[in-house]
Amino acid sequence: MIPYGRQCIEEDDIEAVVRVLRSDYLTTGPEVQKFEEEFAKYVGAKYAVAVSSGTAALHLAMIALGIGPGDRVVTSANTFVASANCALYVGAKPDFCDIELVGYNMDPEFLEENWKPDTKAVVAVDYAGQPANMPEIGRIARERGAYVVEDASHAVGSEFEWDGKRWKVGGHPWADLTTFSFHPVKTMTTGEGGMVATDDPILAEKIRKLRHHGIERDPQKWVNENIEKGPWYYEMQELGFNYRLTDIQCALGRSQLKKLDRFIERRQEIVLRYNEAFSGIAFVKTPKVADWLSVRNDYRIAWHLYSVGIDFDKVGVSRESLTLSLRRNGIGAQVLYIPVSEQNYLKNKDHGGRSMINMKRFYKSALSLPLYANLGEADLDRTIHVLKNEL
Ligand SMILES: *Cc1c(COP(=O)(O)O)cnc(C)c1O
Repeated sequence: MIPYGRQCIEEDDIEAVVRVLRSDYLTTGPEVQKFEEEFAKYVGAKYAVAVSSGTAALHLAMIALGIGPGDRVVTSANTFVASANCALYVGAKPDFCDIELVGYNMDPEFLEENWKPDTKAVVAVDYAGQPANMPEIGRIARERGAYVVEDASHAVGSEFEWDGKRWKVGGHPWADLTTFSFHPVKTMTTGEGGMVATDDPILAEKIRKLRHHGIERDPQKWVNENIEKGPWYYEMQELGFNYRLTDIQCALGRSQLKKLDRFIERRQEIVLRYNEAFSGIAFVKTPKVADWLSVRNDYRIAWHLYSVGIDFDKVGVSRESLTLSLRRNGIGAQVLYIPVSEQNYLKNKDHGGRSMINMKRFYKSALSLPLYANLGEADLDRTIHVLKNEL
């Protein structure tokens, strides 16, 4: 079965992992810092903190920003559940923002019109790898005293132009914290894993402490005077977690990062092939780039998903039967995402309670086709052929 996404692991990745397995440190060793430094450099951020998953990254982002009970956190309706759950982890109120029908990202106009004064953070999501309109989202949130977290789980390596400059996701000034995921379906992997990127030294340090039980190791920063101290001493200063990423995983991450640009180029090639193949088919919408990006003509989308919009009523085949027949042919199409605002658990805790009209429309039509760096030509051709045959 060809999945909708999967890892691309090569011999040098395996060697990098084996090298660490033979070394002194399996965790909290030198690979962690090296991975953080190389990743920060790649995305153009001053700091990067490696954590155990993209979900852990979002959780620590909320704590570091001081989000808690009574605060509202607005995220896109078109995302994985983790982007909303991070609000619940800290006792805050999740709320949802509808999407634009081009790019399927958070609609800044909707965000602004439905703003509530208790909103303390916006979690923007770069769906499929296409950057959300961060300059606009950043302006709206900051004018109202809220923080901006960018859930860039899909968008490592994406870039956009603004104010005559080219910015990388993770390295622009319109997000306070940017989170990444290295789950195997994402563009680069560490098995499980995540990263928080920021230019703010205080936030970076807070997150570094929180991923390790809130323990402070720097003697300059110890505050407990009533206890004997020595080389053994450490001080827990707040409630943290074990959200560390191992050296084994960081070695894999460093190796993957070296070839990330190649992975992205291959993904872009596949997207072009799909776009060409489906361009003439009635009632099928291939992914488009939002105006704010395309008018400047200088951007890079590190495509993570290839989601087509199919008007199933008009093409005369149901999504279920199309998905089933793709599966019979060994092609694992997916639907990404079920509106997160429609998950019963979250729906009952949704403090906005507005109907996500565009999101529901997109959901009815959405189908994600296989997209990953080592998707072979034969599998790509077969996917195109089977889909065309069914439509
Ligand atoms: C994958 C993903 C996450 C969660 O990342 P994990 O590493 O699986 O915890 C969060 N948000 C989005 C948009 C994702 O795609």
